[in-house]
Amino acid sequence: MKTITIKNTCGEIPIGKVVCVGRNYAEHAHELGNEIPEKPVVFLKPTSAIIYSGGKIIYPKSSDDMHHEVELVLLIGKTIKDANSKKAEEAISGYGVGLDMTLRDIQSDLKKKGHPWTIAKGFDTSAVISDFILKKDYKLTLDEIISLSINGITKQKAKLNTMIFAPSEIVEYISSLMTLEEGDLIYTGTPAGVGKVEKGDKIFAEIEGISSLKCEVG
Ligand code: MG
Repeated sequence: MKTITIKNTCGEIPIGKVVCVGRNYAEHAHELGNEIPEKPVVFLKPTSAIIYSGGKIIYPKSSDDMHHEVELVLLIGKTIKDANSKKAEEAISGYGVGLDMTLRDIQSDLKKKGHPWTIAKGFDTSAVISDFILKKDYKLTLDEIISLSINGITKQKAKLNTMIFAPSEIVEYISSLMTLEEGDLIYTGTPAGVGKVEKGDKIFAEIEGISSLKCEVG
C-alpha cells in the first residue's frame, strides 16, 4: 500500500485514488493548443504510479517524449459526495507538491483518436509526490509560487492564483462525479513551461511554504 508522509508528525496516511485535473492554467492550455475548459478536465492515475521524492522516474520504452508537469496536490481528509463549496474546502486536509509525468507523444496520438489518456498518464513512476503539510499547519493563500527546474535551470514558474479553477472549486466538481474519501489525492494541473525530460536529468520542484521534491530521470 502506498502512503503519504505528513510533515511535523510521525504519521503516514494510506493513499486512496489519485484524481488529476488537466488544463487548469490558461497559458499551459494555450501552449499545447487547447481551449480553456468550461469545467475541469478530469482523469485518474493508479496508485501504482506513485513514487516519492528522491526516487527515480523511469523512461518507458513506449515513449520518446516524456514531459514534466509540476502541480499542487490536495489531500482529502473526509468522505464527501456532491459537496458545496464550503464542504469541499473543509474536506481538503493538506497540500503537497507533485509531478504528473506525461508521455506527450502517446497522449497526442490518443487525443487524435478520442481515446482515454490512461496509457500516457498512468505508467509506473508517473506520479511523484512530496511530503504533505496539513492545512491546520499552513494557510494556503494562492500567492505561493510553484516552480520546477531541471539541472538547475528553471522551466516552470507561476503563482498558484493563475489557476483557472481554485482548489475548492475542483473538489466541489470532482465530488459531483465520484465520492471522494480520506487519503485521496487531487493533482490540480500544471502551469506553462512543460517540456521533455532526458535520462540523467535532475528535477527539483517546489511550492513556497508547502513542500519540495527532487528526483532523477533514469
Ligand atoms: Mg497535469
